[in-house]
Amino acid sequence: MKGFNTLITWMFIILFVITLFFLYNQLEDDRHVYLGEDAPLPSELHPIVEDRKNILIEEAAAINIDVFITEGNRSIERQNQLYEQGRSKEGNIVTHARGGESYHNYGLAIDYALRNEAGEIIWDIHYDGNHNGQPDWFEVADIAKDLGFEWGGDWRNFKDYPHLQMTFDLSIRQLQKGFRPSEAIPES
Ligand SMILES: [Zn+2]
Repeated sequence: MKGFNTLITWMFIILFVITLFFLYNQLEDDRHVYLGEDAPLPSELHPIVEDRKNILIEEAAAINIDVFITEGNRSIERQNQLYEQGRSKEGNIVTHARGGESYHNYGLAIDYALRNEAGEIIWDIHYDGNHNGQPDWFEVADIAKDLGFEWGGDWRNFKDYPHLQMTFDLSIRQLQKGFRPSEAIPES
């Protein structure tokens, strides 16, 4: 009889774990939608990325940093052109992503620069325009990370200092297959 009770207890535990597993997957699915292989690419930023971008600009302005967004959503054609820069065309390599391989193509990434006191757009990561002893560029990156962005300056192999993205736990592979972040993600 004792062995029987132990068996029943274990069966309940296993059932419980299986139920949790399914509930968890259900939650995961709520974060993503599948639009199919021919899913159209967005022509603008994802609303949450757009929202956080605006907050980033405001919060930076509050500490006297003028953030200038140089790029947001990017077409496949433009991505392919950028990819050729430093390869078949002149210039420095600016990306390792071909068309469809960048979060910019899915409205999930932005690039930033700074505007100095003279009103010029600069890419100087050491510039300290608010004179607080810290480079403005890194202060902006810190604000962005607090807002949920992943920063290209943290990447190990190819540091992309102007780049900020929100992946919503979707890989490029999944995005290419037609998965998209659901827009109903609760505000954090
Ligand atoms: Zn970028």
